[in-house]
Amino acid sequence: MTVELLKPCPFCGCDPHMDFSFPNGVRAEECLIQCGNDECGCEMVLLGAGYASALKQWNTRKTKPIEKRTYTKAQIKAMDIKEYAECIDDIRLALDDGRILNDEGAVLS
Ligand SMILES: [Zn+2]
Repeated sequence: MTVELLKPCPFCGCDPHMDFSFPNGVRAEECLIQCGNDECGCEMVLLGAGYASALKQWNTRKTKPIEKRTYTKAQIKAMDIKEYAECIDDIRLALDDGRILNDEGAVLS
């Protein structure tokens, strides 16, 4: 059996954590999934969601999770539109992080 884990934060790629609380008794179980990066602020609050449901909702996304890989300008140019759309969050972050290299191997600025 494969245990499904929380995917990394879609905005910064850090590991999130999940907490359950019962502010209004068992009927209104509240699940909070929060990015582990304090500077990110990404979080999701789900009311009445059990572990499996909360996990599924956090892990559902149209784009690939942030991989924090290094791209070359040529690799990005060679992507078809579908591949580009799936990686857009990572590429946007890569530009900020200096993970995109030009044709000479220097960081794109
Ligand atoms: Zn984050």
